[in-house]
Amino acid sequence: MAAATSEPRTVRHLIGSEWTEASDGGTFETRDPHDGSLLGTVARGTAEDGSRAIGAARTAFDDGPWSRMTPKERQRVLHAVADAVDAHREELALLETRDAGKVLGHMEHAEIPRVAHNLRFFADYAALSANEAYPDGPLLSYVLTPPAGVVSAISPWNAPLMLASWKFAPALAFGNTVVLKPAPQTPLTAARFAELALEAGLPEGVLNVVQGYGGDEVAGPLTSDPRVDRITFTGSTVTGKKILAAAAANLTPVSAELGGKSANIVFDDADLDVATDIAIKGVFAGNGQVCLAGTRLLVQRGILDDFLARFVEKAKALPVGEPKQPGMFMGPLIEGPHLDKVHGYVELAQTEGGKVVTGGERLTDGDLGQGFYYPPTVITGLTNQARTAREEIFGPVQTVIPFDTEEEALAIANDSSYGLAGILCTQNLDRAHRLAANWRTGMVWINCFFERDLRLPFGGEKGSGLGREGGPYSREFFTDPRAVTLRLRDS
Ligand code: NAD
Repeated sequence: MAAATSEPRTVRHLIGSEWTEASDGGTFETRDPHDGSLLGTVARGTAEDGSRAIGAARTAFDDGPWSRMTPKERQRVLHAVADAVDAHREELALLETRDAGKVLGHMEHAEIPRVAHNLRFFADYAALSANEAYPDGPLLSYVLTPPAGVVSAISPWNAPLMLASWKFAPALAFGNTVVLKPAPQTPLTAARFAELALEAGLPEGVLNVVQGYGGDEVAGPLTSDPRVDRITFTGSTVTGKKILAAAAANLTPVSAELGGKSANIVFDDADLDVATDIAIKGVFAGNGQVCLAGTRLLVQRGILDDFLARFVEKAKALPVGEPKQPGMFMGPLIEGPHLDKVHGYVELAQTEGGKVVTGGERLTDGDLGQGFYYPPTVITGLTNQARTAREEIFGPVQTVIPFDTEEEALAIANDSSYGLAGILCTQNLDRAHRLAANWRTGMVWINCFFERDLRLPFGGEKGSGLGREGGPYSREFFTDPRAVTLRLRDS
């Protein structure tokens, strides 16, 4: 693959050490959601390709040096890979912006640096973290954590390389080999990253990248082949269920990070400036295509008018446009069918009795008409029973619901088939703790949002997923913890 050129590129699979076409020569295109320009022609992987990639990862695991290296040796290599990401930060950021439509500044200063950070964190964690050991008289009991084996990593399009790195970084750090399948909407950065990783010294076959679609195509074997030891998936709840069903045949453990419909609760004692900024970021950052988004904004009735006025004023003023231009807050949605889906929900909201306070129509001014631009949209007048308030829209659409008491807010927040994130703004720390303890959700942010310490568990309850990733949780998933009990002779 060519390095930093704006010419359309040819993207192949990386299987073992080879960059290869699809077994049947099939391809698909990836286009810039800003203007539809062609970015690349990509190998459309077949089940045979998926199977070959698993074979390469299996051989690399069984015969190669990676799984037998010490964590310290792997740490050195993964740090070199992270250095390569840093050195190519601007190039990777631009690729991601063009492929996914996300604003360039955020790619350069947040998502791509996070890829390097994730690699270093997990490399260091594997090398330095404490392990269990229980000396008990003549008995010494301890835990070994050998790598699990071959990992299938299947990732979505909304934060392509960063979300993929939450998978390959821990998987590699704990000694596994990986077959990564990025989403077909955003194939470019994974391919370029793999190239950089090989150059930086990652042994052949340790990271394989296949391109294409799910189900019957390249991803089929990734979820159903008995040579796969772990599946780590981020994507929709519907796909997650299919993957779990496929994995069940071989009892392959699955970590599933799925959809969300999270609540953001603003109490009347909150610092309203802070709460407004959090609410804006909480639903419109990432073009509104964020699993953690606080898409149900619950506002205590006494401050509803004041808070809504501030929120809507800010939402209206957010710069939406060409994501390569400095100062943009939102770019285009990922693709036409997704824009139709998002707009469909806004139309549905109105039939359900909702009022669109701002936004609600596709943006078509000037060159925005060539892309999939949708404005920050705020809907009031719905209850939590409306479909708009219950189903994941995955776009820049905020549903505002008033509440009176803490108990009512918690009940509404918990009344969801999802349980991924929760945001709450209050100055009352007793209340904040109480809510965090009773909220059925994987993560709670109090007077902040999006902060992530990689030692913490990341994941969701209910329809939002299965399992957790992060520090010790990743070690548990990507290794096969083994209990060893040793009887020592009396000394
Ligand atoms: P998706 O489920 O359509 O696709 C995700 C990935 O799965 C893609 O690579 C796709 O090609 C692949 N896939 C599809 N069908 C498959 C199958 N049958 N077998 C194997 N692989 C298959 O999701 P998407 O539209 O790419 O991403 C958006 C979704 O991801 C939203 O629901 C969002 O909430 C969720 N998400 C969750 C998190 C999280 O951490 N919980 C993070 C980001 C996105």
